[in-house]
Amino acid sequence: MLRREVLDSFLRFRAQSHGAQLIHALVTEVDVPSSPNAPYIIHHLINNSRHSLAVDVVIGADGANSRVAKSIKAGNYSCAIAFQERIKLPDDKMEYYKDLAEMYVGNDVSPDFYAWVFPKCDHVAVGTGTVCSKQDIKKYQRGIRERVKCKIKGGKVIKVEAHPIPEHPRSIRVAGRVALVGDAAGYVTKCSGEGIYFAAKSGRICGEGIVKASEGGEKVINEGDLKREYLRKWDDKYLSTYKVLDLLQRVFYGSNAGREAMVEVCGDEYVQRMTFDSYLYKRLADGNRVEDVKMVLKSIGSLIRCNIVSREMQKLY
Ligand SMILES: Cc1cc2nc3c(=O)[nH]c(=O)nc-3n(C[C@H](O)[C@H](O)[C@H](O)COP(=O)(O)OP(=O)(O)OC[C@H]3O[C@@H](n4cnc5c(N)ncnc54)[C@H](O)[C@@H]3O)c2cc1C
Repeated sequence: MLRREVLDSFLRFRAQSHGAQLIHALVTEVDVPSSPNAPYIIHHLINNSRHSLAVDVVIGADGANSRVAKSIKAGNYSCAIAFQERIKLPDDKMEYYKDLAEMYVGNDVSPDFYAWVFPKCDHVAVGTGTVCSKQDIKKYQRGIRERVKCKIKGGKVIKVEAHPIPEHPRSIRVAGRVALVGDAAGYVTKCSGEGIYFAAKSGRICGEGIVKASEGGEKVINEGDLKREYLRKWDDKYLSTYKVLDLLQRVFYGSNAGREAMVEVCGDEYVQRMTFDSYLYKRLADGNRVEDVKMVLKSIGSLIRCNIVSREMQKLY
């Protein structure tokens, strides 16, 4: 659990103390050069006045509505939406959430995702997300507030946040000497809706790849370098995780029967350990083969009991 406002300023300060030059500006456009070694021109506004900057390489880390992605025609992705309210609770209510994060499922809080109460040190974030019913997001937010109403009673909303969440990686994540990372690239995982770790990690892999390929800034890199040092490393490390989480979201979140099956499967200690390790280390945990087989059989058993398999089979035929 973390607060972006705290993490972001920590990262900014650390980058600056390592020699990065910060420019507080709004990027409006990036001009892509027509010749291979010419610079990219980044147009930006500082206090409403226009400026431009010539650079060799661009890392677009500018979120879901990335201007950098638009400038390189990286293609669109479909988006989910997430909505959350930061709520300052009375002390006795906050005590309950001190070491606890809650996840809620059900058609009242989201038709295809989960709702949450996450502790944020001195307040909580209460929110929900949906892919298939974005226009109803406020209704689902009322749903989660209703579910936790006793626990958040007396709380004061201090901030409201709503934002698109990429549903899958963009078709183009590297073009020329421009690379996209984080939400700009579309790196939020299905099932958990986790994007902060993957934004930071993709930024790091990309940055390290550029340092390596440019031999510490001595040589201008090219698209091949970015693909080899960043994209391939990223895909090798995380693509399978994205695929598995995509499948889990489809199987377990889409209906009340699927959610029942998920709760049943998650009662198993082995499943809890595998889930926890995979979540903590950001890769599918290596398990015990015999226990893995038992886990798969148990999951199938739960799904059959909860009528998922038969319903899916009916859809197929
Ligand atoms: C309500 C909600 C709750 C979420 N909860 C979680 C969670 O609990 N855990 C989790 O892991 N993920 C969560 N996510 C997803 C997570 O927030 C994102 O995946 C993550 O923030 C992506 O980081 P990023 O740095 O790529 O993009 P962002 O966090 O969107 O950062 C982009 C940055 O670029 C700047 N920027 C954008 N455009 C320009 C421009 N034109 N010029 C200059 N600067 C610009 C922005 O100001 C911002 O600082 C949540 C998302 C939402 C909406």
